[in-house]
Amino acid sequence: MKIIDLRSDTVTLPTQEMREAIYRADLGDDVFGEDPTTNRLEKMAAELIGKEASLLVPSGTMGNLVCVLTHCARGEEVILGDQSHTFLNEAGGMSTLGGIHPHILPNQPDGTIRLEEIAAAIRGDNVHFPRTRLICLENTHNRCYGSPLTPEYIDGVAELARRHSLSVHLDGARIFNAAVALGVNVKELTRSVDSLIFCLSKGLSAPVGSMVCGTSEFIAEARRTRKVLGGGMRQTGIIAGAGIIALEKMMERLKEDHLNARRLAEGITKIPGLSIDIERIKTNIIYFDLTSDRLKPAEFITQLGKKGIKLLGTGPSRFRVVTHYGIGSEDVDATLLALNQVMEEA
Ligand SMILES: *Cc1c(COP(=O)(O)O)cnc(C)c1O
Repeated sequence: MKIIDLRSDTVTLPTQEMREAIYRADLGDDVFGEDPTTNRLEKMAAELIGKEASLLVPSGTMGNLVCVLTHCARGEEVILGDQSHTFLNEAGGMSTLGGIHPHILPNQPDGTIRLEEIAAAIRGDNVHFPRTRLICLENTHNRCYGSPLTPEYIDGVAELARRHSLSVHLDGARIFNAAVALGVNVKELTRSVDSLIFCLSKGLSAPVGSMVCGTSEFIAEARRTRKVLGGGMRQTGIIAGAGIIALEKMMERLKEDHLNARRLAEGITKIPGLSIDIERIKTNIIYFDLTSDRLKPAEFITQLGKKGIKLLGTGPSRFRVVTHYGIGSEDVDATLLALNQVMEEA
């Protein structure tokens, strides 16, 4: 039985070309700055994203942590969304390891945080308060249905930050999905932020790795922070070789993932007992709800599992589905068929 794994775009396997690039990669010790393949990837990523420099890190989680720790000192404060991956799903790294205070504000359904709420949250100079240092945004916004933030919104937040001498960090784990969905050059989404990360290991299908991007000065500091966290690795060309293919070859096809997600979402609207807010589906992430009481959520997952479909439960009766390189148009058909069958059999 074919397994259709829709839990995340992190399940994507490296392409044949990536495996060959890994095999052939020129290698050296990256802690000495001597891995030629990693140096090439870092230069490529920085140029593509429109920043002076970049740094390979093992994961998006480490990338966000490296950036927050580089921007902030102990006792300082970060403003971020209450639905953000950094707040919800990164094990509280900023406070655990950095003594940094997260100040959460509500994410709107489109993944934005209202400018007036950010402005009101920025602390004045008062001995009682932590010092606000950084604002974090997320694009696309994972929990907010993979919603893409626009260049205008990001520029607006950055302008507010500048007025208060704050920095802006962007968790751009899926920044290329945002650029593709909005039809803009990715540089428009990054031009006004001080630092960002993006993942090679999600929709771009590389096996490992994320990139931290910023000014040369910031990246030099981030390199130290990465070392502190144990993220200084040796012959990283093994990882970077696949990362280069990810940047060269895998970006164009993200629109297929968005079309597949759209078609899957449209199919779900027609299935009795399931409910989906189709207007919110703009990239490769879908959330939908089980509204029928004929089937318990755990049973729903089990029944789909028996038909080879894997998805993620993210709430009492809410599920997440992510399309990616491993999911073709025929898999969308098979998934819709399985969903229909499971609901009919209930
Ligand atoms: C996946 C993800 C991360 C973290 O990436 P890992 O490589 O899994 O640590 C960060 N932010 C967002 C929005 C993500 O979806």
